[in-house]
Amino acid sequence: MTTERLARLRERMAALELPAMLISQPLNRYYLSGFSGSAGTLFVSADRAVLLTDSRYTERAAGEAPGFEIVKLERDVAQALPDLLAQAGVDRVGFESAHLTYAEHKAWAEKVGEAALVPTQGVVEGLRAVKEEGEIALIRKAVEIADAAYAHLKRTIRPGMTEKQVAWELEVWMRTHGADGIAFDIIVGSGPNGAMPHALASDREIRAGEPIVVDMGARVSGYHSDLTRTLWLGDADGAFREVYDVVLRAQEAAEARLAPGALGPDVDAAARAIIADAGYGDKFGHGLGHGVGLAVHELPGLNQRTQDTLAPGHVVTVEPGIYISGWGGVRIEDMALITESGAEILTRADKDPIVRI
Ligand code: ZN
Ligand code: ZN
Repeated sequence: MTTERLARLRERMAALELPAMLISQPLNRYYLSGFSGSAGTLFVSADRAVLLTDSRYTERAAGEAPGFEIVKLERDVAQALPDLLAQAGVDRVGFESAHLTYAEHKAWAEKVGEAALVPTQGVVEGLRAVKEEGEIALIRKAVEIADAAYAHLKRTIRPGMTEKQVAWELEVWMRTHGADGIAFDIIVGSGPNGAMPHALASDREIRAGEPIVVDMGARVSGYHSDLTRTLWLGDADGAFREVYDVVLRAQEAAEARLAPGALGPDVDAAARAIIADAGYGDKFGHGLGHGVGLAVHELPGLNQRTQDTLAPGHVVTVEPGIYISGWGGVRIEDMALITESGAEILTRADKDPIVRI
C-alpha cells in the first residue's frame, strides 16, 4: 500500500524535477508511511525513504512504517539535514510550504542554505485526492453510518429538543454504530441560527415551523463522511418549499456535471446559476464542495477559484445552500465518488425535509 503511494510520489517528484522531499504534514506523513505518531518527518529521494523521529516513537515507527528506514533524531531535523542530503547525494530538497513554520524553515536554511530548500504545495495532497479501493471502502462505511444516524434522527427529533441535544443524539448513535468518532463538531442550526453556514449547536430549543440545518459526519479508520440535511417539523410553508426546491435543483444540476475532466469552477457554476436565477445569488456565499478523505476538507475543490479538475477516484461533496438572515438556512450535502464514466452518489440519506409531528 505505502509502496505504491511512494512510487506515485516519486513520479510527481520527477515531474517537478525534485530530487528529494521532506514531508512534515501529519496526514501526509501518515498517508505515505503508515506512521501514526504525532511527531516525525519523512525524507524521500529516488532510492531512499527515511522516517526521522525521536526516541518516544522509534519503536512504534518501526512497526507501523516497515517501508521506511527509521532514524532516531538526537536533536531536531535541522541538525540531521546536512548528513541526510549528503548521504542521498542530493543538493536540493522540496518542503511543504503550507505546513513548515517560519522558525523551522529558518533553522533548516541555517544548516543547508536557503537555496537547497525548494517550496512545494499540494504534492502529497494531490496524491491523497485520488482514493484507492481500500480507502473508498472506509469512506463508504463512514457515509453509511452518517446516513443511518440521520434516519435515526428523523425518527426521534421533536420540538423542544435543544440543538445540543440533537447533536448529542447523532454523536451517540454514530459512536455506538461503528464510528471511531465524529468527523467534526456537529452543526445544528435551527431557525435564524441556520443563516450562519457553520453555526455550532447551541442551547436554543428547536421549534416546529422553522428550517433546521444539520451537518455531520462519521470517522472510520481515519476516513470521514460529511452529510448535511435540512429538516422542517410539521407542515412546510410556501417560503420554505420554494427555497428548499431551489437548493435541491441546484444540487441535482451540479451532481449531473460530476465526471472525470469536469472543472471545479464549472461544477460550482452549474449550482450557482440556478440559485442566482431564482433570485438568491447573494445568499450562497460559500463554495459548492470539497474533497473528503483523511481530512474532512481536502483536494479537489469545487468552487469559483480552484483550478482543480475531477478525476476517477476523487471523492467530493456537493453542498449548495441559501442563507437568509433572520429566517434561517437550507443546505443539502451529498458525497460522490468520481468514476471512469461519471459519478456515483454515495450518500443515500433521504431528502424529504418534512418530519410529521
Ligand atoms: Zn458538511
Ligand atoms: Zn462539507
